[in-house]
Amino acid sequence: MASGEKITPLTLYHQLRTAYGPQPDWWPGENAFEIAIGAILTQNTRWQNAAKALANLKQAGLTDSSALLNTPPTLLAAHLKPAGYYNIKTQRLLHLCRYLETRGGITALQALPLTTARTGLLSVNGIGPETADDILLYALNQPVFIIDLYTRRLLARYGLANGDEPYDQLRIYMEQHLPAQTALYQEYHALIVHHAQHSCKKQPHCSQCALQAHCVQQI
Ligand code: SF4
Repeated sequence: MASGEKITPLTLYHQLRTAYGPQPDWWPGENAFEIAIGAILTQNTRWQNAAKALANLKQAGLTDSSALLNTPPTLLAAHLKPAGYYNIKTQRLLHLCRYLETRGGITALQALPLTTARTGLLSVNGIGPETADDILLYALNQPVFIIDLYTRRLLARYGLANGDEPYDQLRIYMEQHLPAQTALYQEYHALIVHHAQHSCKKQPHCSQCALQAHCVQQI
């Protein structure tokens, strides 16, 4: 980026991509349902822990809504233990499964307009905007920008936001400054997570950061 050129969400994306390269198939999961339940399992924990719980479910053959709904919650909770908060996550998974069953399954959600699907997911007990948008972007391939703590931190340090704005304010800001492309949003989120876990940590490693030359608020 030339000196003096304004930093925008799109230039930040290009800088991240130049630094870290493409991030194909970043969210693990063999199908949309698996990705959707992974979005609940990874709440408040690292993906590695969620992956262990997901593996337990798969090993037990619990790979669709009706199988989960027909399993005693205590048994389900035992499978979810590695993901932490397993009693709460059991209830949240069951809420999601009940919602999907009443809507005709996750593939039926794919046919809905984005705003309708988003409103529906947000009506499910235990699904907030970040989880809903995880499901929309990675399970349903809808162009919605995920705002997580890593995104807030990077946008604040890059001078693009304060970082404490309401969720939808930041989401809409990003969406208004980017082409509405699902693949771009998927890759952008993956790049932000990678960057936050390697350089732009809570205590940032600015001297080793690939974006240091462009960052206006390096510490
Ligand atoms: S220079 Fe520092 S604050 Fe800026 S993006 Fe890199 S790690 Fe984060």
